[in-house]
Amino acid sequence: MLAWLMKRTNTFAVRPLSEAGEQLLRDLLDASAALWNEINYQRLMRYNDEDGFEGDVWDADTGALEGKYKDVLGASTAQTVRRANSEAWRGFFENKKKFHDKSNTSVTEHPEPPGFRGNEDDGRVLKGVVRKDAYTVEWGDRSRLEMVVGKQLRDKHNSPKSRLRLEIVGDPNWPDYEDQGRLELWYDETDEVFRASQPVTVSDDTRNTPLASETAALDIGANNLVACTTTTGEKYLYEGRKLFQRFRDTTREIARLQSKLGDGRYSSKRIRRLYRKRTRRRDHAQEALCRDLIERLYQEGVDTVYIGGLTDVLETHWSVETNAKTHNFWAFKKFTERLACTAEEYGISIEVRSEAWTSKECPQCGSTDRTNRHQDTLTCLCGFEGHADLTASETFLERQTGQTVRPMARPVSSEITDFRDAENAQRFPARFEWDDHQWSGKSHPHDSPKEQRTDPSTVHRDGNVASGDSQAV
Ligand SMILES: [Zn+2]
Repeated sequence: MLAWLMKRTNTFAVRPLSEAGEQLLRDLLDASAALWNEINYQRLMRYNDEDGFEGDVWDADTGALEGKYKDVLGASTAQTVRRANSEAWRGFFENKKKFHDKSNTSVTEHPEPPGFRGNEDDGRVLKGVVRKDAYTVEWGDRSRLEMVVGKQLRDKHNSPKSRLRLEIVGDPNWPDYEDQGRLELWYDETDEVFRASQPVTVSDDTRNTPLASETAALDIGANNLVACTTTTGEKYLYEGRKLFQRFRDTTREIARLQSKLGDGRYSSKRIRRLYRKRTRRRDHAQEALCRDLIERLYQEGVDTVYIGGLTDVLETHWSVETNAKTHNFWAFKKFTERLACTAEEYGISIEVRSEAWTSKECPQCGSTDRTNRHQDTLTCLCGFEGHADLTASETFLERQTGQTVRPMARPVSSEITDFRDAENAQRFPARFEWDDHQWSGKSHPHDSPKEQRTDPSTVHRDGNVASGDSQAV
């Protein structure tokens, strides 16, 4: 039988066991950053065609630099720093190619050559790498990490052992793995703690198995990031408005700063910082969303998830001020990749269905020309009224499975205060908002604390949600 192998990462904090150990670790990371900087300098000068630097990026004599540091870092670590820098440059060239390729929408920002890890005067960024065979991790009651250190550093700190030992704080996500990759170690200045990430390969028997063979369908957009309907009758709505608004504000600020740059320049420190901030924010929210959603679907016994195209976003909200690259960046490609990756852990499969279908179809009478979408609400001349994106995910689900989804209750306004009894809660969508840390809703006595059940017909009454058509500015 073929074993499935999946790449995962354990990230954890590490603590030196003594002050001498901490100083040694700092010196090690500082020297790693210094070697990175020296190598990068040689390559960057050649990339920029500076006088006195012969040849191209790959002609720099980085082997000599590696040799200079091997007694400090250890031969394997010096080699690994050099390789990591080479990979960064290769990645840069690939991204640059993708950026200039109009048919490729995966790279949306003009890529920058690899940067420096601080400098000697202002302090270097304490960051290093350790070759996969130059460290060991032991998981258990007292988890620990041991790694190779060069002789010069050991002598300087009177360290008799050939390896530096660090205590690991907390438990790993993936304690059982087939193989480990290159370790990254860095000092987290915000939390004042050392951290490490350990890439691992795990086999698929660590995956979960779906509990049943239910199906879910997702409608993905920018204002409502995900609207989801399951064959068990559950509905989830993940709000993206506030998040998306900030994304757009940052994008606009970047454009403003770019317009002020001199000829021949496409970036500045400030612009790069804004890009990083924007990316970090998006990644954090998307990762958390994938985890939250997939765990819910797993509990529902879902084994297949269908993802529809980005119909609403492409049709209505963007066109003027943003280009195709931007909405791909925001919503679709990265998001579906992330979702597939998380789903894989639970043994859930993701199917992307790109066939054209309309989010304007009435689920009651099937008409597409008698419906009207206003903000989040879809209404039809036949009397239907419902949340447009949730309705779309439901129609999409029915189309994929050929089954009718249990209809959702839609109380008239006089019943609103009564509709949230325990029995009924099951029949209304759970709505989640991003609060910079997690996806949550206001808790309701009958729900789990993270959820908020919302009747789709009341969505407009919520000031947050009914923020108007500001997206069409
Ligand atoms: Zn209708």
